[in-house]
Amino acid sequence: MTTDLHCHTTASDGQLTPNELIERAKQQGVSRLAITDHDSMDGYFEVCEQADVEVEREQFQLIAGVELSCIWGKALIHIVGLKVDPKVPVLVEGLQSQQLAREQRAVIIAQKLEKLGFSGALEYASALAGDGQVGRPHFARFLVEKGHVSSISQAFKKYLGAGKPGDVKLTWPALETVVSWIVASGGQAVLAHPLKYKMTATKLRALIADFKAAGGVAIEVVSGKQTADQTQHLAQLSQRYQLLASIGSDFHQPDQPWNELGQMGELPKSCEPVWSGW
Ligand code: MN
Ligand code: MN
Ligand code: MN
Repeated sequence: MTTDLHCHTTASDGQLTPNELIERAKQQGVSRLAITDHDSMDGYFEVCEQADVEVEREQFQLIAGVELSCIWGKALIHIVGLKVDPKVPVLVEGLQSQQLAREQRAVIIAQKLEKLGFSGALEYASALAGDGQVGRPHFARFLVEKGHVSSISQAFKKYLGAGKPGDVKLTWPALETVVSWIVASGGQAVLAHPLKYKMTATKLRALIADFKAAGGVAIEVVSGKQTADQTQHLAQLSQRYQLLASIGSDFHQPDQPWNELGQMGELPKSCEPVWSGW
């Protein structure tokens, strides 16, 4: 049984619709999948409305998940919630406030682009995003497709990347807050991709200690394709802090083989999987 507990659909910044994602996961041999869109569970809800997932529950297990943005010190951290009950009011309200923050950010980015002489950005980007969240990739496509820049990378380099006008920071809640939403909804809080924050070893240990104190129960020991050394490092951290181990591709789109669904290898045998009690 291949388990993948981290991936994205069009409900956040993924390119596949929820049902396309399920199909691709099955083709890749995944039999236990958590959809973990950024600050949204709409993709999960959409799949749950499809009867065939119910029928195939024995062969294919869909886990209710979400990836929440939060702040620890000055660092932007991602916390995955697994097996959350999406009807619990604390989580429902938390997701609403995260969505509101994202919408406000999109409006501010559009205003900044307007000042630079690029009008109509919000309408264009919103249309591209459809039912999903409007993010910088949509504004980048706006700039390219309207002929303001020659490529997506130019859009980020000139207008949307770090330190540029469209680099609008969001005020996310504290790590403790989003972990408490997950705990209150009966879910398991997982520290996502611990090595992506590029912290020193000392700082990363402090983050993990605070995360555990807040109620976190697991860390992603495997996140996409990574080196054996990285896996070993994270496995040791999970053991040192007596945390369970999770595994996920962080799949966003089909043209990134390093994040392909279900293709990230296995957890080391020394790890206690986050699903051991499911
Ligand atoms: Mn993403
Ligand atoms: Mn993330
Ligand atoms: Mn992710």
